[in-house]
Amino acid sequence: MDKELQQDLQSRREANLYRSRKTLETAQGPEVVIDGKPYLAFCNNDYLGLANHPEVVARLKKATADYGVGGGASHLVVGHSRAHHQLEEELAEFTGRDRVLLFSNGYMANLGVISALLNKQDAVFQDRLNHASLLDAGLLSGARFQRYLHNDVDNLTTRLERSDARRKLIVTDGVFSMDGDVAPLPELAELAKQQNAWLMVDDAHGFGCLGKMGGGVAEYFDLSQDDLPVLVGTLGKAFGTAGAFVAGSEALIETLIQFSRTYIYTTSMPPAVAAATRTSLKLLREETWRRDHLQVLVQYFRQGCEQLGLQLMESASPIQPVMVGSASSALAMSNALAEQGILVTAIRPPTVPEGTSRLRITFSAAHSREHVDQLLSALERTVSPLQEEVA
Ligand SMILES: *Cc1c(COP(=O)(O)O)cnc(C)c1O
Repeated sequence: MDKELQQDLQSRREANLYRSRKTLETAQGPEVVIDGKPYLAFCNNDYLGLANHPEVVARLKKATADYGVGGGASHLVVGHSRAHHQLEEELAEFTGRDRVLLFSNGYMANLGVISALLNKQDAVFQDRLNHASLLDAGLLSGARFQRYLHNDVDNLTTRLERSDARRKLIVTDGVFSMDGDVAPLPELAELAKQQNAWLMVDDAHGFGCLGKMGGGVAEYFDLSQDDLPVLVGTLGKAFGTAGAFVAGSEALIETLIQFSRTYIYTTSMPPAVAAATRTSLKLLREETWRRDHLQVLVQYFRQGCEQLGLQLMESASPIQPVMVGSASSALAMSNALAEQGILVTAIRPPTVPEGTSRLRITFSAAHSREHVDQLLSALERTVSPLQEEVA
């Protein structure tokens, strides 16, 4: 067995697609220590700087004293605690939906939702740049699977018109995880109604960042439950904790409780994590300065890149990828930045399509302007000459 596996590993290495893990020795934040060396990091998804917020940490400790550590059982057996229930109610109020259901993580939420809603008689229509968990969920559901061109409403319309499936589910990222751009949701919501299709949005990267109160794309575009009936959020990004949720109608949530296998057959998230997330939800809503500061950093960075002649993608979110092209150049740039103490990950296929490897730079409210200055100088030394060569 090992001999055969080694061959596959070797070809992955030769294609510059080999992944290796870095061992983090500190909490998440702008300044981290990895394998004994200090770095200024621009690659986590802790957009609001809540993953190591003292109030969230204190709440987790206190809740651990009350609830212990493990969830102990699945939600339907005896793992559904008061803390889970309160978080669900607060998230329902926050999202303006009838009800919310917690999942252990976003990957499982997406698998659980799509396979509970669809079967072989149905069809799922996904943006071709959707997150892997959505694509996998579509395949698992057994529904006919179509990928439409990125953010291309006309292409999707044609596909919907041709379909005679029992149910049609349109699925998209809200803010695209590797590109940072936003789905054209008002148009998609309109189209879904016209075509008698259902709309599901995974807003893992929008919650906390978009909307005045951090309500993500639904708040940003003012889309009601009727416009956007299946809304998924994750808690491991801007919320700074762990887990995920689905927000929607009473009937949707009951359907998931009855039929969603990744909800039913798994241990509930640790109840103390749910309690800590209630604190992070409060901070996420109330401390609007975090979103404002993040926007200032993003604008400041984009201006700096323009002065350097660096090519950025169309993104107003804290995800600011620098497009590179080949996996080997992206990797070389990432390594060269690391030598200067700047941590930015190279994102390569199969996470992104062939030929679109990039540096995925992300910002957090915990970064300062000085941090951005340091990043810009390092990019100037490393990436601008290389990007010219590539272009
Ligand atoms: C991170 C992410 C997920 C997975 O969420 P986890 O809670 O980390 O499993 C799902 N969808 C999108 C768009 C993501 O970016």
